[in-house]
Amino acid sequence: MNILVTGGAGYIGSIVVEELVKTGERVIVYDNLSQGHRNAVDPQATFIEGDLADVVRLGAAFQQRNIEAVMHFASSTLVAESVTNPLLYFRNNVACGLNLLEAMLRHGVKRFILSSTANLFAEPERMPIDEEERIVPGSPYGESKFILERMLHWLDKSHGLRYAALRYFNAAGASPDHGEDHDPETHLIPLVLQVALGQREHIEIYGTDYPTPDSTCVRDYIHVLDLAQAHILALQALEEGSRVYNLGNGQGFSVREVIETARQVTGHPIPAIEGPRRPGDPAVLIAGSTKISHQLGWQPRHPDLRAIISSAWDWHKEHPHGYEN
Ligand code: UDP
Repeated sequence: MNILVTGGAGYIGSIVVEELVKTGERVIVYDNLSQGHRNAVDPQATFIEGDLADVVRLGAAFQQRNIEAVMHFASSTLVAESVTNPLLYFRNNVACGLNLLEAMLRHGVKRFILSSTANLFAEPERMPIDEEERIVPGSPYGESKFILERMLHWLDKSHGLRYAALRYFNAAGASPDHGEDHDPETHLIPLVLQVALGQREHIEIYGTDYPTPDSTCVRDYIHVLDLAQAHILALQALEEGSRVYNLGNGQGFSVREVIETARQVTGHPIPAIEGPRRPGDPAVLIAGSTKISHQLGWQPRHPDLRAIISSAWDWHKEHPHGYEN
């Protein structure tokens, strides 16, 4: 199948591309490199440097490459940034997402996988959080993904567009060739590993007054290779209809547990200092992923936090300056 992967030069996108190529799919990466890295694109994929705002270039990609399905990773993803600049998120995620959907329909493409988010669940009533949970977007970022989910819902009804929305909890870890390289880096695991590499003095714990066993936030860290597998299974299942899935391991780890595990993996003391809460962080987010397990047989192959952090550590040691070297 010819699959267009937007954001295929980014962290999760590049690893999904790597896995798609392994299964023999023809992958066309469409990425403006605003956050992605040219070296992150698998050499077996075709690369188009393009912006989703550029509808002419986007249309040409569909026309020339005979696209049959789309996986859409390209987006702005920082919760805090979206709170200070909501319009940036509505432009990049909603307006550009609309351009992509219009281009798809214009070219008769009816298979779509959306990167969605756990930020749809700002006020969970049950833990773990399954697909029945009430949707309360926690930020303009979460809202932008929810709007895309709603657009897809209606496009399925009106045009028969088949989609899967995959709501990731905390993507983490690396493949041997692809890892996490954001600028600025804001995520816990890569920041902790930068301390172990001597690139930072300490890690700051955002908030030590949460109602959790050790008073720090609890998150569900899922290996990015397990996420990639879920994308491949979801694409295969689209013939049988559209669907949404929450994706995590169903297990939570606190910020202190992540830091302690990273100390064991790296052998570095990783000094930690306690700081105030980061605005918008819920205390606990744990995914209920039994729906995708039952429907598609998906099971995380790398659920162990130590193995997740080890894979990231291997990549960061090999690439201490990310994709620059
Ligand atoms: N966190 C932290 N210090 C940091 C970065 C993150 O204590 O320097 C915490 C953050 O408050 C959250 C958890 O680590 O509870 C995971 O944050 P991350 O940004 O990696 O992912 P998010 O949960 O925001 O998607």
